[in-house]
Amino acid sequence: MTTTTKEALPITVQNVTKTYGPVHALDDVSLEVRSGEFLTLLGPSGSGKTTLLMVLAGFTRPDCGSLKFGDREVIRTPPHLRDVGMTFQSYALFPHMTVAGNVGYPLRLRKLPKAEIAERVEKALETVQLGGFGERRIDQLSGGQRQRVAVARAIVFEPQILLMDEPLSALDKKLRDQMQIELRHLHEQLGMTTVYVTHDQREALTMSDRIAVVNNGRIMQLATPRDLYERPANRFVADFIGDSTFLPVKKRGDHVYYGDTALMHDAPPPEAKELMLMIRPERIVLTDDGPREGSNNFEATATNVVYQGDSFLLQAKLPDGGEIALRGATRGAQLSSMPSVGDRVMLSVAPEDTVLIDGTGA
Ligand code: ADP
Ligand code: MG
Repeated sequence: MTTTTKEALPITVQNVTKTYGPVHALDDVSLEVRSGEFLTLLGPSGSGKTTLLMVLAGFTRPDCGSLKFGDREVIRTPPHLRDVGMTFQSYALFPHMTVAGNVGYPLRLRKLPKAEIAERVEKALETVQLGGFGERRIDQLSGGQRQRVAVARAIVFEPQILLMDEPLSALDKKLRDQMQIELRHLHEQLGMTTVYVTHDQREALTMSDRIAVVNNGRIMQLATPRDLYERPANRFVADFIGDSTFLPVKKRGDHVYYGDTALMHDAPPPEAKELMLMIRPERIVLTDDGPREGSNNFEATATNVVYQGDSFLLQAKLPDGGEIALRGATRGAQLSSMPSVGDRVMLSVAPEDTVLIDGTGA
């Protein structure tokens, strides 16, 4: 498929709320998706991701709020007039139709001439690397191929906006990893404004320009993958993305203390009732030669050591009973110096890896 010449439309969601009885599926959501951006909604099951996508597609009418594609208010526009392509959480393919029948469906709805339908269907199939598969039956395809058919059907009418709801969740890990890269390439090739849904944090980090972390129908943080991981806004985001240790800390005067030890940190602490020190396990250094100058040092006792192939996981107890986790490389000397349970260990965290966050979670 040729790159679309239409300008990719930005999406503006303002104060959208959708309730189902007592459930706030969406709770006053505001969000801007930039022109041509790949934005991911990431959140646990039941957090409102599908509901938001259905609002964008026009299948769900929110209780209130505004939705614009470019300058155009579309909240009252029916789905087929929104110029939006969508893949659903289940493939939602028609099993009795051929591949070409499925992909051409949106074009037949739009009553395009037969010859043009055939041409566009083949182009869309080539885009998802299924050229020549048109006459196959859906039940003769693998999971990955079915997913490609669903994507071909979503892009066949060259929509300006593409919505994808957990398209890869049914695939095994290898294929999922491969399809993540493929879908990202497809996005670069077609340039559509894309909203992608997943509950898989690694998938979100791999694919997205920006990620909106969703919980209980609200957006907890909207940021680039790097900012989300490095500077999570609160405990929920820090917990949901990557692994981390949280230690309670207190602000006294100009310093932040863990117990009686003043911490070295780069960024100022946030205003929060409950302040936490967040440490990523791979940012902790195991030092053999005592405390490191210019770093935060923690003495601890190894409680669990697990060899995991590409890395090892060390869990340790701090003198005050707090738990801390470290991930170490299984490379050369580091593997041979892997501690054993019961060992006293010295853990060192550089100031720039010391993240102070709002520990309340929301
Ligand atoms: P997600 O896609 O993040 O798993 P959903 O958007 O599907 O979450 O659901 C958000 C919340 O809204 C859930 O509590 C869900 O049970 C509820 N919900 C979604 N759709 C309906 C519906 N049609 N009727 C009643 N409750 C619904
Ligand atoms: Mg869902």
